[in-house]
Amino acid sequence: MAINYLCPHCKGYISLNDAVVFSVKASGNKRGLISLKTELGNYAVDKNPEFDFHEGEELDFYCPICHTELASDVHGKLARIIMVDENKTEFDILFSRRAGQKSTYKIIGETMEIFGDDSAEYIDFINLSMNF
Ligand SMILES: [Zn+2]
Repeated sequence: MAINYLCPHCKGYISLNDAVVFSVKASGNKRGLISLKTELGNYAVDKNPEFDFHEGEELDFYCPICHTELASDVHGKLARIIMVDENKTEFDILFSRRAGQKSTYKIIGETMEIFGDDSAEYIDFINLSMNF
């Protein structure tokens, strides 16, 4: 039983092998599928080479199944999906919508794991949201 990623809305499985697949909208209404790695902290991105966007650009992430925007309540620049580990434990995964920004947070209850060189940027917002 591997780690799986789910859409928080339709609970559809958005991961396939070692990739998590998203429908993405970039500036100029450009749209495409991209995949990120299931391994947290690995920021390799796969996409069609014709679907180009700039480093630092804010992307809109959508579920490839139900097309709901995968926005986080914590901060407008973060996207949110669900991870289910080998023990069927569910975690909230938040990550930056900005292309090239390495900020990922794995959250369950009041416990958080942090990944990426740029993770400091949103940590205060997430801490605040966890104090409720
Ligand atoms: Zn969905």
